[in-house]
Amino acid sequence: MIKRVFNLERVENIPHTGDDDPPPPYAAWLKYWEGKTYQYDRYCSNFFCLKKATLGGHIKVEGDDTPYIIPLCDSCNKLKKPFYKRKGVVCVTVPSY
Ligand SMILES: [Zn+2]
Repeated sequence: MIKRVFNLERVENIPHTGDDDPPPPYAAWLKYWEGKTYQYDRYCSNFFCLKKATLGGHIKVEGDDTPYIIPLCDSCNKLKKPFYKRKGVVCVTVPSY
């Protein structure tokens, strides 16, 4: 498992990831992210959002095509435009099957 810490960087939601289930034993992508980072009860990773994270969103970082999971709220998970990721939020790689 690779995880990388980025500074404030432009990230973008990866569309059509609704059918992508997290690997067992994780019931949700947010649980996967928490299990890999040992960080819990986080806020949304969008720098300009103050809501609690409710899910683990599939994103990619500008200049990097690797899919990562970060904690997001429902509305930020639906953003179609790039947004800025909060500093220090760990990006966890999506496992390949
Ligand atoms: Zn948000």
